[in-house]
Amino acid sequence: MKTPLAFDNRFVRELPGDPRGTNERRQVHGAAWSAVSPTPVATPTLLAHAREVAELVGFGPDDHTSPRFAEVFGGNALLTGMQPYAACYGGHQFGHWAGQLGDGRAISLGEVVNARGERWELQLKGAGPTPYSRTADGRAVLRSSIREFLCSEAMHHLGVPTTRALSVVHTGEPVMRDMFYDGNPQMEPGAVVCRVAPSFIRFGNFEIATARGDETLLRQLADFTIARDFPHIDAAAPARYAQWFREVCARTASMLVQWMRVGFVHGVMNTDNMSVLGLTIDYGPYGFLDDFDPHWTPNTTDAGGRRYRYANQPAIAQWNLERFADALRPLFADIEPLKDGLGAYVDRFNAEYRAMLATKFGFPDFSATHEALAQEGLGLLTDVEGDHTLFFRALTEWQGEVPQDDAAAVTALGDMFYDAAKRDAQTPAMAAWLRRWHAARHAPSVDVAATQAAMTRANPRFIPRNYLAQQAIDAATAGDASVLHDLLDTLRRPYDAQPGREAFAAKRPDWARHKAGCSM
Ligand code: AMP
Ligand code: MG
Ligand code: MG
Repeated sequence: MKTPLAFDNRFVRELPGDPRGTNERRQVHGAAWSAVSPTPVATPTLLAHAREVAELVGFGPDDHTSPRFAEVFGGNALLTGMQPYAACYGGHQFGHWAGQLGDGRAISLGEVVNARGERWELQLKGAGPTPYSRTADGRAVLRSSIREFLCSEAMHHLGVPTTRALSVVHTGEPVMRDMFYDGNPQMEPGAVVCRVAPSFIRFGNFEIATARGDETLLRQLADFTIARDFPHIDAAAPARYAQWFREVCARTASMLVQWMRVGFVHGVMNTDNMSVLGLTIDYGPYGFLDDFDPHWTPNTTDAGGRRYRYANQPAIAQWNLERFADALRPLFADIEPLKDGLGAYVDRFNAEYRAMLATKFGFPDFSATHEALAQEGLGLLTDVEGDHTLFFRALTEWQGEVPQDDAAAVTALGDMFYDAAKRDAQTPAMAAWLRRWHAARHAPSVDVAATQAAMTRANPRFIPRNYLAQQAIDAATAGDASVLHDLLDTLRRPYDAQPGREAFAAKRPDWARHKAGCSM
């Protein structure tokens, strides 16, 4: 491993920290971070890496083949310039203030500045306990690590703002997990993911400072975040905090629209899992919609309330931004700029959501007619238990007229139905809808080629379906990482036809029907 990475660790250099350097669990006051060390593992072995991310942080094309790469990204060694720390944050979990949380199993290694001058923070997940581990072990299982690695990269290639993932290292050390669905503790293989982002600062970093009445720390964090992560904001301008909050709101809105577009359900939208950069962060029990069920959540611990179900995500993001506004309140003389930012969230979300739906359906705009057709189409998709991704792909690739015969019209949508009886019951309605959709697509004012090109970029063919991730995990657990590599490779080009890999585009098989996306 020859390439020397250049570290410039502003987070630890510019913000107050807790330098004791022990991993003992404790409350940490007056500090944004605690110095910690990753706990070494038995036999770190590289299971997979993302070559684009390796390049992004300054590694050469073969650096990952060095045993040192697996040692560093498994937590057994540090590169010169790394200064490992765990961040202190709090958060609202499932709607309730939870006090200090912090990086309980994440350890940042440092901030790399690449040849293009971009700053990337490298963070291990599952590298052992920190002061913030509370009662847990600081470790992660192979299953959840593969899920985070795969989904981070898939989301990036889908065009959804997200943290990235550099590597998954198999630790050779089993981890005990009490899977809450059966209550039987089991040993599972352990792993460490290295994730990468310009910043991992969350709403919760600000919330904990304000909850403790520490206005000094709050101001330091805000000034630091603006200077490092929002450099285009004039740090001396009186309206800087207002501009920054508004921007966080707008970025969050754009991220939510992208989640809705690809059918992503985060599953744990607690305020400690909300990035100030508007990046998707903390992949746990996330899932992608197969059949279009707006009330679906992959999180089995949220099954009763379904707070974090697909359709509720935009409202939850707004609620989380309100908690963020509460945390920032001491920085403002009056609340108008905060209300203004929250208003910007609603406006941005509505505008981009409407544009997104128009694009997915192939409409040039979202006129009242288009909107009614879109709503009706989504309603029918729910009623027939149709596959979200395959439905929009079928519309994207629709050829010619809609057949006169109802059954033939619906058959032309392809193998995207999960319940034949529901499909049959809705066949006349679906066929009628398809004819009206087709007529709207071919109205004189519509540029068919341009709208179809836009559909191709908005409607993926390949998404990291839960069952596909599970197949990759099962094979990797049995020692075969090739399924994971093939899947990742396919997900690099989610909008393209990929002959030979179409199996990865298929609807969820019956055996996977009630499998949740659960992972800890
Ligand atoms: P999450 O729900 O994954 O966002 O985690 C909420 C809090 O629990 C964060 O402070 C995590 O760092 C912490 N946490 C989750 N899993 C573990 C674990 N296995 N060991 C230590 N801390 C954990
Ligand atoms: Mg978290
Ligand atoms: Mg369902």
